[in-house]
This record gives sequence, C-alpha cells and structure tokens, in this order.
Amino acid sequence: MKLVIASNNAHKVAEIKAILAPYFDEILSLRDAGITIDVVEDGDTFEANARKKAEEVLAVAAADAVLSDDSGLMVDALGGAPGVYSARYAGEGHDDAANNAKLLEAMQNVPDDARTCRFVSAIALARRGRETLVRLGKVEGMLLRAPRGTSGFGYDPLFYYVPAGKTFAELDASEKNLVSHRKRGLEAVRAALEEERA
Ligand code: IMP
Repeated sequence: MKLVIASNNAHKVAEIKAILAPYFDEILSLRDAGITIDVVEDGDTFEANARKKAEEVLAVAAADAVLSDDSGLMVDALGGAPGVYSARYAGEGHDDAANNAKLLEAMQNVPDDARTCRFVSAIALARRGRETLVRLGKVEGMLLRAPRGTSGFGYDPLFYYVPAGKTFAELDASEKNLVSHRKRGLEAVRAALEEERA
C-alpha cells in the first residue's frame, strides 16, 4: 500500500511517517509523488477541510491512500476564533506575528481564568473504494498576554500548556510532538486502522 501525505512540510511528513509506517509499504510527500495541486480550504470545519484535501489529492495521485491534516487554534472567549481562519486571521499574506498581535488585542479585556483555548487538528485518510476516515486531535491550553519562547511556529508562543508549565514555543520540538493536537489526531487514525485489522 502506497500512502501520499498531502504536505511538503518536512517536519509533518517525518512525524506522520514515524506513526503510520507499520501500515504502509511506501510513504511519500506531495513533492516525492510529483503532485502539484492547489486545494482551496473553504470548509467551515477542520474536518471538512482535511477531508476535501485528502480526497482531491487522492483523485490525482497514483497511490492507494492520501493523508491530510488541517489545524488551528480555537479560543473559547472568542467563540472558537480564529478556528479554520487561524493561518489568515490577520488577513491573507500576513505572518504569524500579525496573527498573534491581532489575537492579543482581541483578548485584551478577557480575564486570566477565561483565557482557555485549544489547538485542534483534523486528520483525514482517503482510500480507494472506502469511506474516508477523519479523526480529531486536541490539546488544551491558556492564552497568555504576551509571547514566550522562540521555538515552534504560529500561535505557539501564546499557547501556555499547563502540564509542562511552559508555552509550546518554550518546549523543544520533540517535547511538543509528544502531546500535540497533530500527534493525538494521528494516534486516533492509527487506532482506527488497528481496529480495522482486528
Ligand atoms: P495548518 O493546518 O498546518 O496549515 O495550520 C493552520 C494554522 O493554524 C497555522 O498557520 C497556525 O497559525 C495554526 N497552527 C496549527 N498548528 C499549530 C501549532 O502546532 N502551533 C502553532 N500554531 C498552529
């Protein structure tokens, strides 16, 4: 069985390979598979976007299965925003710093105990002739009032992970990857594959 991962992000590809290698003979990134396709992520949910990406890539891939992920940050005090708009919260073409600045401003008057938030990742596995499998991974945190730490990306410097007493940007990649939303979503997909085998 050949799996294409609908990503060219080397870190994501390595993380996914490490977890799903036992289930596939060959795992390729989009680039390895020679696929250039622009999937428009216009769904209302992470699940819808991940499913769309996996199914559209499978339609053009010489592979048995395609795995995709769609992720973002949901802040309770903002009704779940930035949510599926996480990457472009401050507008198209803006960077992580602009997104973080906009979020801090929106949260300015929210008291400490109401700053609950979570990273969410939907993982979709599209397979020929079978229902697409979609699983969610989540990790809970508190939104800080100023960034802390320099590793990671996106909203990591604002995301305080209580069990570690640190933000995700103060953890190194290997520590973050053990508890991340993506890891949890991937483990849920792995569990579903394991159930199918049983
Ligand atoms: P994507 O689904 O990987 O494209 O991520 C969408 C957006 O969600 C990113 O641009 C980030 O703003 C945010 N995001 C997703 N996962 C993370 C994470 O692990 N740390 C920080 N920000 C994240």
